Order: sequence, then C-alpha cells, then structure tokens
Amino acid sequence: MRWEIEDTPSQQAFRQEMRDWLAGVLPEGWPEAVEAGDDAALERVKSGSGFNPFAWQATIGASPYAAPLWPKEYGGLSGEVWMQQAARSELVRYRLPTVSINILGVGLAGPTLIEHGTDRQKERYLRKILTGEEIWCQLFSEPGSGSDLASLATRAVRDGDQWVVNGQKVWTTIAQFASFGMLLARTDPGVAKHEGLTYFIIDMKSPGVEVRPLRQMTGSSEFNEVFFTDVHIPDDQRVGATGDGWRCARTTLMNERVTLAGVSLDPVSFTGGTRRDPWQSFLDQVPDRHDPLVRQRVAQLYIENEVKEITAFRASSARLRGQAPGPEGSVNKVFNAELNQRRSAFVVDANGMSATAWLPGDQAAAGRVQTFLRARANTIEGGTSEVLRNQMAERILGLPRDVDVDRGVAWAEVKRN
Ligand SMILES: Cc1cc2nc3c(=O)[nH]c(=O)nc-3n(C[C@H](O)[C@H](O)[C@H](O)COP(=O)(O)OP(=O)(O)OC[C@H]3O[C@@H](n4cnc5c(N)ncnc54)[C@H](O)[C@@H]3O)c2cc1C
Repeated sequence: MRWEIEDTPSQQAFRQEMRDWLAGVLPEGWPEAVEAGDDAALERVKSGSGFNPFAWQATIGASPYAAPLWPKEYGGLSGEVWMQQAARSELVRYRLPTVSINILGVGLAGPTLIEHGTDRQKERYLRKILTGEEIWCQLFSEPGSGSDLASLATRAVRDGDQWVVNGQKVWTTIAQFASFGMLLARTDPGVAKHEGLTYFIIDMKSPGVEVRPLRQMTGSSEFNEVFFTDVHIPDDQRVGATGDGWRCARTTLMNERVTLAGVSLDPVSFTGGTRRDPWQSFLDQVPDRHDPLVRQRVAQLYIENEVKEITAFRASSARLRGQAPGPEGSVNKVFNAELNQRRSAFVVDANGMSATAWLPGDQAAAGRVQTFLRARANTIEGGTSEVLRNQMAERILGLPRDVDVDRGVAWAEVKRN
C-alpha cells in the first residue's frame, strides 16, 4: 500500500533468509507459482500436494519463523517486532496461513508462560505450542463472570502438593481438542475479587474434566462448557504466585486483544488460501459493482479498511520504537470487529436472495452466510465492544471510572445471584 515503508538492508536479508527456507520446505512449484502470480497453478500444486494446515503448523512451528519474538531457547529468534511483521507478510505473500491452528497457545498461553512461567514450564510447553502438537484453550469466562471476569467462582483448594478444583467455565473455544488449558480459579474467597485468584495449567485429560460442546447459529461447535469435579492439579502447574492470578491473566488478556486485532477475521487466515489479498477477495464477492449505490458502500468500506490498516500500522510503529502495546490494541479490536460485521452484512445484502436460500453445493453462498453469522461474535469475544469503550474512555480520554460496587469488598461478601 502507498504508506508502506521500504525495508532496511537487515530487513531485506531477513526476508531473503525466510524465502530460502520456504523454498526448501514448500511443495515443488509453490514458490514459482506465487512469483508468477499464477493462481491456477498454485491451486493445482496445493491440491496435488495435499497441503494440510496441521502438517504445515508442525513445519513452521519447528522453524524460528512461527514466533520470532519468543526466546531462542524456546523456538523463537529472541527477535524484534519488525521480524514478526516481516515473517507474517512473507506468509501472506506465499499464501500460507498467517494464524496458528493453535492460536490460543501461540497468541495467549505462550506469552503468558514466557512472562510468568517457571523454567520447567517453559521447557515443557513452549515448543509443543508452536508445532501445534499440544493445543491450548483458555478457561476464564464463567456463566456469571464474563465482562466482570474477576468475580469468577471456580474454586481451587490446596491439598498438600496438589490443588483440587471444582466449578464451571463456559465459552471455552476448542476445549474439545485441547491438551492443556489456562485456568483462572479462586483460591482465596476472603479477599477482594482481584486478589484471591490463581493461574494454573490444567491437563484437559485429567479425571473430573468434562467438556460439553455448544452448538452455534452457524451450525458449528467452536466453543464448550467445561465442568470440573474434584480435578487434581499438581502445585508445579501453578503459574505465578498463589493469589497473583489476576496479574498473569492480564498478560493473557492483553495478548488476546493484540492477537484478535491483528487477525484478519477471516477463516482463510487459519487455513491458508491460494487467493489474492483480502480486499480483492471481498470485491470478488460483490456482484454488481456498476450500481452507484453499491459503489458508494464499497467506497465507504474501503475508507474504513484503510483507517483500520493505518491504525494497525501506527500501533506497530509504536512497538517498533520499543513502546508496550498501547490503547491501539483496544481501539483496533473494537473497530475491526464492527467493520467485519458491516462488511459481511453488506456482502450478503449485495448478493440478494442467496442470503436466505442457495442451491446445494453453492459453497460461495454458504460461506457468505457463515461469515455473516460468525461476525456477530466479533464484538463479544476477547472483551465486548461496550466494555472496551469503557476502558478507552477511562484510560485514553481520562473520563471517570465505570461504577464498581464490589471494589475493596471481600469476594465472599459480594452479593451474587
Ligand atoms: C466466539 C467466542 C469465543 C470465546 N472464547 C472464549 C474462550 O476461549 N475462553 C474464555 O474464557 N472466554 C471466551 N469467550 C467469552 C468472552 O470473553 C465473553 O463472552 C465476554 O467477555 C463477555 O462476557 P459475557 O458473555 O458473560 O457477557 P456479559 O459480561 O454478561 O455482558 C452482557 C452485556 O452487558 C454489557 N456489559 C457488561 N458489563 C458492562 C459495563 N460495565 N458497561 C457497559 N456494558 C456492559 C456487555 O457489553 C454485553 O453487551 C468467548 C466469547 C465468544 C463470543
């Protein structure tokens, strides 16, 4: 895009190294088809070689390009933010998945373990997160505690060198496939809600863990209810100090926002696609681009897409200058989620009756409706737009704090329904 900056010599060298590596691991003909811009040839190579995202995750996860920011000893490059951005743009260029199939492991659990985990925990878990060998889920939200997460009620009680966990989580994405979960549980009900929490790694195959898939309106079952009945967790699976769970959870949540803001909310990010850039593929779905009203809406969406890209670019420049992820993460999470809803609604609108009924086998129509329905979740997952707007109001605009009647009150004393 026109406001992209040119690579420095070291950035060029990094890209070249990665391209050389890709040339060695991709199926024969793939790099050539990309260089030639030959979509049909790329599609042939892809289907002929049986490309599969799980096998690809194992390949890239064993290389340093899956997480250049992670320490070298745990599979990264101990690199800088620009390396992560350059690696991602090379994956886009080569039409490869830009998001790990283990998105919660790579995006959330890994950074939390790197910051708060013990050396043994880092050694044991990080590499298998990158290769996708062990999938992770996030066990935070509960039926009565979503936006007000710190009010959660799942209990962990110390018993010798073990903890015994009882309670229920909900909305747990991919718990049905997960080997491990990031569990936030209450270990001290006698103190204020934020102070009595502890963060654990839970083995999802432990006796007493029951996962029940929830069916969504898209027809798929992305997330689950998870019940714990006398589940034992060894104390060496605790992350951070007892009672310091909220601080560790904030690391997870901050990384979740950055992960979701950075993801193009599009299934192709996860599976890889042999198609052109996301804006072009959006345009391809708009049938009558000569209609003046359609053109106005496309132009409006183009402007909003540019605003989103520029905000993301500003956030990455700030990180390149060494600043911690700032409010742009929340701003872009809110904007990206709502833009995705407007865009997917426009696409089904522009395609007329096929929004409600389509011929069997019309994958394009089914995909449009699936994207439209799935986009409803974008303004809820990873913090609702209302709650993130509260945070922006308080932290960026300096407006008065949201009302919190539980502040300073022991959790056990707080009225709950
Ligand atoms: C697709 C999807 C995947 C998810 N995956 C996971 C996961 O893997 N692990 C996990 O732990 N959680 C997950 N979640 C849960 C998610 O984090 C929660 O849904 C979210 O935090 C909102 O909580 P809630 O659903 O309990 O809604 P509530 O907190 O009950 O909110 C209900 C409504 O009230 C509004 N509201 C609440 N408080 C305020 C306030 N103070 N000011 C203004 N408005 C307010 C909200 O914006 C919302 O509109 C997922 C959610 C979705 C949709």
